[in-house]
Amino acid sequence: MSMLEVIYEKVNSDNILNADEIVALLNTQGEDLHSLYSKSDFIRKQFHGDTIYLRGIIEFSNYCSKNCYYCGIRHDNLEVNRYRIAVQEIIEACKMIEQAGQTTVVLQSGEDYYFTGEIVGEIIAAIKRETGLAVTLSLGERDEEIYRYWKEMGMDRYLIRIETSDKALFEMCHPDDDFDQRLSCIKTLKKLGVQTGSGVLIGLPGQTIEQLARDILFCSGLDLDMIGVGPFIPHHNTPFANELNPFDKEVFFKVIAIFRLLNKAAHIPATTAYDAIHPHGRDLVLQRGANIFMPNSTPQKYRNDYQLYPGKPCVDESMADCASCVAGRIKRLGRLIGKDQGHSLKL
Ligand code: SAH
Ligand code: SF4
Repeated sequence: MSMLEVIYEKVNSDNILNADEIVALLNTQGEDLHSLYSKSDFIRKQFHGDTIYLRGIIEFSNYCSKNCYYCGIRHDNLEVNRYRIAVQEIIEACKMIEQAGQTTVVLQSGEDYYFTGEIVGEIIAAIKRETGLAVTLSLGERDEEIYRYWKEMGMDRYLIRIETSDKALFEMCHPDDDFDQRLSCIKTLKKLGVQTGSGVLIGLPGQTIEQLARDILFCSGLDLDMIGVGPFIPHHNTPFANELNPFDKEVFFKVIAIFRLLNKAAHIPATTAYDAIHPHGRDLVLQRGANIFMPNSTPQKYRNDYQLYPGKPCVDESMADCASCVAGRIKRLGRLIGKDQGHSLKL
């Protein structure tokens, strides 16, 4: 049997792969690569059918107290025009998301403590009162009591990437963050029964293919409800401005496929950064294992100021433009838009 056949046998019987096997998959070329993508797309269809769930994302604040070296809205980037969207405006945007046929709102921001546990709790409650949307938050690290309170107020899900599973690399990228603390947030959210999503940045400066393989194993070992990954894209006004992503573009897509092989039931989004590195990046990701699309639903006037990385698509479009564009994309792929909230298959 070839190595690929051995790997597929293991995947079929839900056995975990070892790091060498993941590295082999990350290095596949030609026919083998074609076969990897067919396999991941097949597993996506087996477990999730042709349904794609739409989760409208509202980037409601670009204030951030942290200084992650890769991120365009890091605290010390003084060129950012900072904004916070008023609570009522957030609720209005949620209503538009619902009217556009999207069934989840994802509220994302920098680590902005102006939005206290209480204020965010009130936003969650208002969304639940005034819409039928599922609520996902992605606000960074908070205390267990706050996560618990948000869950009580109706929060369904939370996204918090570990960014890298390599502690030394984590420290190299995060001057004011702690790996163990971030990991404990993920574990706390899972313990509280919140559907939890995490993932990594692919190609942080100096990252090796072996480290990336370990990232895939690490995240798969967390038994996540959702796995969100994307390429590191250098931003001109950050300490990593002149760092190059060490991997070629194909690796970014291979990572999606491998995650699908190892996490059959997880929801995997085609994240926005794929459109920044390839004109049809998100469509390709949806054909290589992903089953979630997150249209940009931030009111248009704020979009240009939420640039975590350059080349982000959709900054000049309105919410309505994005809603109709995504419907077209999904139709062209021969897939269907999910009508229900698309909760975790693991519940
Ligand atoms: N502040 C929150 C949520 C917003 S940041 C948090 O950090 O969890 C959301 C994600 O954007 C981060 O997890 C990171 O993986 C990604 N990101 C930041 N800068 C990026 C860059 N230069 N290229 C690609 N992704 C980036
Ligand atoms: Fe802030 Fe998140 Fe960017 Fe880090 S990645 S600087 S926490 S917005």
